[in-house]
Amino acid sequence: MSDGFKAYVLREGEGGKVTGAFEELATAELPDGDVTVRVAYTTVNYKDGMVMNGIGRLVRKYPHVPGVDFSGTVETSSHSGLAPGDPVVLTGWRVGETRWGGYAVLARVPGDYLVRLPAGLSLERAMALGTAGFTAGLAVDSLEAAGMRPDGGEVLVTGASGGVGSVAVALLAAKGYTVVASTGRAETHGYLTELGAASIVDRAEFAEQPKRPLASERFQAAVDNVGGTTLANLLTQVAYGGSVAAVGLTGGNEVTTTVLPFLLRGVSLLGIDSVMCPKDRRERVWKTIADTLPMDRLDAVSHLHRFDELPDLGRAILKGEVRGRAVVTVG
Ligand code: NDP
Repeated sequence: MSDGFKAYVLREGEGGKVTGAFEELATAELPDGDVTVRVAYTTVNYKDGMVMNGIGRLVRKYPHVPGVDFSGTVETSSHSGLAPGDPVVLTGWRVGETRWGGYAVLARVPGDYLVRLPAGLSLERAMALGTAGFTAGLAVDSLEAAGMRPDGGEVLVTGASGGVGSVAVALLAAKGYTVVASTGRAETHGYLTELGAASIVDRAEFAEQPKRPLASERFQAAVDNVGGTTLANLLTQVAYGGSVAAVGLTGGNEVTTTVLPFLLRGVSLLGIDSVMCPKDRRERVWKTIADTLPMDRLDAVSHLHRFDELPDLGRAILKGEVRGRAVVTVG
């Protein structure tokens, strides 16, 4: 292993101001961990934008290397399940927040955090998915465990043109579901249809607090990336025995609902957490995504960037200016 490696490093200055710069670090500075990974690709999540810009107190200790997700090959390992040369992907576990992440040529982590890349998935495409794609996979997995079936009726995806939503639409369509995509952006209708949406609804349909506790049974299930009144609203429209995967909060984290969808229709609200998800489930869901998702649809969602574009991407994502999934070459 070489002695020095390039990294994007955040430092805290006067008055707590956080600034970032590309630096050469020594391998001796890497944190503890039984596996060192040569990082090939990373990505920019909203949380990365917050970390890079010192927002939200997600990082407690500086200097810090951000990067919530990365893919690469094992460089050295004392973990029994991983050997040098193995292709791996990491999402979550608060890497890039409470410990150094993937915005560096080398990353050192506990080997139990790493998932060996399933056959058929490249390192680059693993980052086109990243936390967003993995979370979409988790949501579909939870809904199927609760009884969702391709012939059971329409499945709603809210926030459909976002990172999680796009992969959820493509994955559900590839599995044979009839997908209804809810979006606020008319310009994404063609894109969502190409991903496999059977029909598209305007997100304004779900924007108001519902007037009645139950409405007509419309969807067998939903992947909800929006929360707030959207979640309150769609709960009234889920068919008997159906389920909703609560993933996101882009429309607000407070939900005012009655218990009637749960009590009178047996509707289930399923919580989705990608960060602390256990390793065996991670491996299973990554494999399902690799086996199911048409790779040309994934390619339509992602765009490739250079390492030195990270600071610009970190600012852009906070302003909602990054469409689909940004993949960044590390090095
Ligand atoms: P994106 O920013 O890529 O997409 C979010 C989408 O939500 C937007 O594209 C938009 O969809 C919609 N949206 C944005 N603002 C509003 C609004 N005010 N009202 C209604 N809809 C809105 O985010 P991601 O797809 O990466 O993440 C989606 C959510 O899931 C986020 O809240 C994120 O924090 C959360 N998340 C949760 C995880 C978990 O483990 N539970 C893991 C990863 C993400 P459109 O333009 O189509 O209307």
